[in-house]
Amino acid sequence: MSDIIYTKVDEAPELASASFLPIIQKFAAAAGVSVGTKDISLAGRIISTFPDYLTEEQRQTDDLAELGKLVKTPEANVIKLPNISASVPQLVAAIKELQSQGYALPDYPETPSTDEEKAVRAKYDGIKGSAVNPVLREGNSDRRAAKAVKSFAQSNPHRMGEWTADSKTRVASMSGGDFFSNEVSATLANEATAKIVLETADGETVLKEGVAYPAGTVVDATYMSAAALDAFLADEIEKTKAEGTLFSLHMKATMMKVSDPIIFGHAVKAWLAPVFEKFGDKLDALGVTGNAGLGTLLEKIKGEPEIVAAIEEITAARPPMYMVDSDKGITNLHVPSDVIIDASMPALIRAGGKGWGPDGKEADANCVIPDNSYAPVYDETIKFFKENGKLNPATAGTVQNIGLMAQKAEEYGSHPTTFEIPAAGTVKMILDDGTVLHSHDVEAGDIWRSASSRKAPIEDWVNLAIDRQKAEGCRAIFWLDANRAHDAQLIAYVKPILEAKGVADKFEIMAPREATRASLETITKGENTIAITGNVLRDYLTDLFPILELATSAKMLSIVKLMQGGGLFETGAGGSAPKHVQQLQGENHLRWDSLGEFCALGESLTFLADAKGNEKARVLGAAVDAATQGILDNDRSPSRKVGEPDNRDSHYWFARYWAEALAAQTADADLAAHFAPIAEALVAGEEKITAELAAAQGAAADLGGYYRTDAAKTSAVMRPSATLNAIIG
Ligand code: NAP
Ligand code: MG
Repeated sequence: MSDIIYTKVDEAPELASASFLPIIQKFAAAAGVSVGTKDISLAGRIISTFPDYLTEEQRQTDDLAELGKLVKTPEANVIKLPNISASVPQLVAAIKELQSQGYALPDYPETPSTDEEKAVRAKYDGIKGSAVNPVLREGNSDRRAAKAVKSFAQSNPHRMGEWTADSKTRVASMSGGDFFSNEVSATLANEATAKIVLETADGETVLKEGVAYPAGTVVDATYMSAAALDAFLADEIEKTKAEGTLFSLHMKATMMKVSDPIIFGHAVKAWLAPVFEKFGDKLDALGVTGNAGLGTLLEKIKGEPEIVAAIEEITAARPPMYMVDSDKGITNLHVPSDVIIDASMPALIRAGGKGWGPDGKEADANCVIPDNSYAPVYDETIKFFKENGKLNPATAGTVQNIGLMAQKAEEYGSHPTTFEIPAAGTVKMILDDGTVLHSHDVEAGDIWRSASSRKAPIEDWVNLAIDRQKAEGCRAIFWLDANRAHDAQLIAYVKPILEAKGVADKFEIMAPREATRASLETITKGENTIAITGNVLRDYLTDLFPILELATSAKMLSIVKLMQGGGLFETGAGGSAPKHVQQLQGENHLRWDSLGEFCALGESLTFLADAKGNEKARVLGAAVDAATQGILDNDRSPSRKVGEPDNRDSHYWFARYWAEALAAQTADADLAAHFAPIAEALVAGEEKITAELAAAQGAAADLGGYYRTDAAKTSAVMRPSATLNAIIG
């Protein structure tokens, strides 16, 4: 195994790797550090799942499983780039592309009937959604902006939309019947194995059995009432119309792969309610559920003029919808993978509460977030800015995050203990000693789920927070609601640990709404605070605050302190930026900013130095930090516009600053001597290299695929400077 594993992923970050990874490998080799790759891309994961359908040459090892083992060892040193959390339409598109490339993969069975189809479907479903991160995240999360990044943002503040008191933008959330209000939670005194059953008038169905929990596990159960959800959605559509705002839905439609696609489907059905009432049978026969989105639905009913007309009629009567792409007519409800609350809500808040309407103009929006567990965070943020005006990034302090996530803690909805209830009855969670731990009366269509958080990860998380607070000395808040069932169990862990360590006075515990306000007040004063949160808020807040403070979450340091001693370094808190690929394909300009990769690389090398006593790696890591600083100080980050420097240019500058820093340092004379001529060549080649890179832009670029690109073509596109390639090799 290589010293450092750099993950092979998808979309924009993978394109960036085609340019950046050869530079990393060349530089690391000088310190005797090997950097290898493991393929966790959507295409790679599909291929590795179906060896029996493929030829010998086509087969791939299951790299995710290998990485899953590696992260449980102290040797782990993984640089993890963002990968696609696939929705069904994305999965289907990837399968199609692979088939067209000669991979004889089975189709995705939309409605599996035979045993074989069911088996294929189960395998594909294992690839969907957030299937990668839970495997790798064998530790809790430490996310913050590196000092250099934060001070750059303060001296180069980005534009922020104005917030005014009369903005009609608001958050709408359910006041009952949702996951938040139905939650129950208990901490297991002893280890136990649970089964989940549904008791109905016709008898008992086992939904799941053999769910094993070690002692001390916090086990929650809750459900979303389908009837309450439908009533809420219908009501909010009407209210949006009365208020004259855009209707917008914000949730995690693909990552929460079981629950949220269903909720998204309810929204599609609510929007087209009269159509589903009138043509329900026909839509069923066509296999239309709503869960795959309006886009797929419109595709499937193309040949049904009556339904098309009915859709047009109801659309005309609805309020305007918030758009993903108004030029292309892609609405909020078209594609589930476009509905990502942690990206959409901060963007709307940064824009002063504005979303894009169907007319291509900005407007206020009704932000519909059905479940009320975390909606108060956005609601309070919006209220705060209405009262106080927009945040000033030039003077604002920062919100760091310590997030609980190890061993699938709080993996809501994306795990195998979430069910759409087939018939009215009672769901019970029964332990092997016969204890009924949790019980809920449910109706057909309700979404029931259980999530758990183990003791060791919780304790590790609290201790990580204590270390971080000590290092920063700033305000630190546990975002836990004493009135929420799950949070109350966590508080019972947190308080004794803080008291035993004598640091209880350094921490506050507040419900998410109060914590949001307190944090915004703190950073408005220019001071810093640490948000110590569960898994969902780790995700949401490390997009929300960075997007307000730094304009993007892509520049965050995101470190996973693996519980077995290894390190997992995530590159930023953002995603895989599909829009960036489109731009590259159209005009050969890649606006992806690799700053997240730069920060992760520096941390990874320093970690390697500590773990293996490799002092050359330490020198290399320190020089990475200097190069990152150089990129920021000299404004070498990619521009968004074709014809201006892009991702590839930033890699040239990074290599140059890195080599210069290595040549200049005095800690290791061999490395200095090795890198002096490289630095010289990079400086001397500046004009030629930048000209070669500039000449590559403008025309369409062929990558030979989207989900599985052609390596040679991608390399040709991403490494167009012969002069630079001659230096890097
Ligand atoms: P996203 O790709 O981060 O997109 C949001 C926007 O943020 C982008 O369109 C881009 O804005 C900007 N952005 C993000 N990273 C950037 C970078 N390095 N440089 C420059 N701009 C950057 O998020 P998304 O649309 O929520 O998610 C897309 C996909 O990524 C999904 O499949 C999602 O599941 C996945 N995802 C993976 C991870 C992970 O693996 N850790 C995390 C989040 C999301 P402009 O277009 O305006 O330039
Ligand atoms: Mg996120």
